[in-house]
Amino acid sequence: MLNVDLAFQKLGDLVRRVDETERVAIEDAVGRIAAESVEAPIDLPPFDASAMDGYAVDATGLDHSRKKRFEVIDESLAGRPAASALCAPSDAIRVFTGAAIPDQANAVVLQEDALRQGGTMITETPIHRDQHVRHRGHDVQQGSRLCCRGTRLSHFHLASFAACGIEEVTVSRRIRVAVFSTGDELAERGRPLQAGQIYDSNRFAITSLLREKAVETRDLGCIPDDPEMIANSLDKASKNADLLVTSGGVSVGDADYVKDAVDRIGRIEFWKIALKPGKPLAIGRVGNALFFGLPGNPVSAIVTYLLFVAPTIDRLAGCEPTPPLTLAATLNGRVRHSAGRREYQRGILQSSDGQLVVTPTGDQGSNRLATLAGANCLVVVDEDKGDVEDGESVDVILLPDEGAHLMHS
Ligand code: AMP
Ligand code: MG
Repeated sequence: MLNVDLAFQKLGDLVRRVDETERVAIEDAVGRIAAESVEAPIDLPPFDASAMDGYAVDATGLDHSRKKRFEVIDESLAGRPAASALCAPSDAIRVFTGAAIPDQANAVVLQEDALRQGGTMITETPIHRDQHVRHRGHDVQQGSRLCCRGTRLSHFHLASFAACGIEEVTVSRRIRVAVFSTGDELAERGRPLQAGQIYDSNRFAITSLLREKAVETRDLGCIPDDPEMIANSLDKASKNADLLVTSGGVSVGDADYVKDAVDRIGRIEFWKIALKPGKPLAIGRVGNALFFGLPGNPVSAIVTYLLFVAPTIDRLAGCEPTPPLTLAATLNGRVRHSAGRREYQRGILQSSDGQLVVTPTGDQGSNRLATLAGANCLVVVDEDKGDVEDGESVDVILLPDEGAHLMHS
């Protein structure tokens, strides 16, 4: 059996980056992959600006030891620069945060350090050149890189684009993903279950997770355990998809036809990975489309999606996946694990007295979706490890959590 890292590496060799690009408005660009680097068209700030409320003065040649007296000749507000420049060394211009520093001024005296008497401002504090001045371009210089090609655009990249007045960005086109589930036992939501049926949760979970990605999803429904129908669906879907994602039918049961169907009309590149949950994962090709046959058990389908499919979508769009943030936590409980496969156990990670502590969610059956809903992380137990005892240190990776907040009450 292929180990997880080798499988991921071999998978990378199968990915052919999609070349087509499109221009999108930045408000539609969150999560899209930049198809070219973006350089700042202007300096930020675009002019020397005051960082504080106070008085703009010329600090040249001032005597730090003496009380200084200035005549306030004008004011500069954010968006409303002063009409005048400083003329005499004793001139000052009232300024506010974000306002342009007037010509000839090069320092701002804090309002708190200034005594105002009519048209005069007096200060005893030393004044240093550049104090409380945000120089033109000190945040971002014109021509500097705001993001590289292949960057997944976050809210924060796009905020910096907005600050530079950028309206549109060139991104890779959306990756076309066709999804179907297989299984005679699967029923659609909204219909009563017949004897022996279960509701199809994998297709829901996968299409739901795909909403977080820069994709166009085609939901092809549920296909019965019929080799011809499965082969036809794969063949048809491959004509207009970069990625085919199926669930079920890749194990070793009598009705597991998906792998054979792919072998017939395309090619299985590898099957069975030293992974738990998710051992039966099959990866291959049909026409120009990459094929992922996810196992039927719901937790296996989701974990293999997160480990293999999600990063492949990014790679197809030109974004190389970054390694997950792996945290070391103290195991609360015991993990039974027989060496040979890398295991990802659902867990709850908490911080206790400044220490990270992780508690596995109990029985790790790959059918037990409810235990995934209660988890916030996966505990990674490497292939060469045996049981892990209470109090030992384990590696943990966080599950995606769009609802995570920086504060709580
Ligand atoms: P399979 O890989 O097709 O042998 O399926 C393994 C297990 O997962 C069986 O118990 C199936 O009933 C279940 N299963 C398969 N597909 C789905 C699905 N789409 N939603 C929920 N459970 C499924
Ligand atoms: Mg099945």
